[in-house]
Amino acid sequence: MEKDFISILLAGHEGFNFQDVCERYLIVKHGKDFVPVTPNGSEGDGGRDGYCFRTGEYFAISSNEKVSAKIKADFASCMSYDHPVSTFTFITNRGVRPKDCDVLDELRRNNPGIAVHVLRHSEIAVEMTGMSTEQIEYILGQPLPFQRNKMVYLKIRKKIGPFTLLESIKDSMHGYIIVVASCLILGFSLFYSTTDLVRTIFFTVIFGLTFLYMYCNRESLKKYKFSHKILYYLITGKLHVGDEVLLTSTSHITIYRNAMWSFIIHERAAECTRPGCKGHVLLHKSETGTFIGRCNKDRVNHLYNVDNNFYGEMK
Ligand SMILES: [Zn+2]
Repeated sequence: MEKDFISILLAGHEGFNFQDVCERYLIVKHGKDFVPVTPNGSEGDGGRDGYCFRTGEYFAISSNEKVSAKIKADFASCMSYDHPVSTFTFITNRGVRPKDCDVLDELRRNNPGIAVHVLRHSEIAVEMTGMSTEQIEYILGQPLPFQRNKMVYLKIRKKIGPFTLLESIKDSMHGYIIVVASCLILGFSLFYSTTDLVRTIFFTVIFGLTFLYMYCNRESLKKYKFSHKILYYLITGKLHVGDEVLLTSTSHITIYRNAMWSFIIHERAAECTRPGCKGHVLLHKSETGTFIGRCNKDRVNHLYNVDNNFYGEMK
């Protein structure tokens, strides 16, 4: 689960810089309003301070074990800051013990105009799970293995065919007839009709006829087979025998040419494995042109690598 993964990273394993990560988290959260601050009399312990102009919030980031001593020192830095401070937030990935809480209470009592908070890495992890994959990866400075590298195996959910080119044209014809006939009649009606009444009658008749035509040919319409796309791929030489292509760059449906004049339409899907998601992972092309799996319930965050052995040389 990503919350636990982020939490483990933030807790600090070897080579993972908590201060850097928190600074990027605050940049994502507050944008240009957040500025890093160099505290007066730096402690030299790798702690980092920052300030948000919009909210007047002062942040002290630390993974120092001596929490209470660090809170005191950082609050002193905060007090020496030039800009008005309404909130002091101490961000840590260390445990907060009772004596640390005593220090916090003391600061609150002595500084009634300033809200004093502690923000722990586990709370940041929870908040980060609501962010986009791009933001999380920017903050952590590394890809999320459970999202990007997770492999799903897309199984065939729907298969139409094999069918011949002629069958594809025949089955697609009704769809094309509707589009062409509607456009023609619409054009004529706009050109020849003189009054609004005539035009309204025309539209009503077109709508009625189209509906009637679709109803009469409903069984054939269900067999629609994208013959114009197949013809386009054949003419442009993008669909040789054994090739499989995506119907469009935004579609997850593919056309496979299994013999000279024989084709199969495929729709593949896998169950989304993200907790609580009942979506289907469908094949898509990423911005960089590679194939990825996107969940139909969350196309931005639920991303998967797809096993490419099933599509071979798909374009
Ligand atoms: Zn999903």
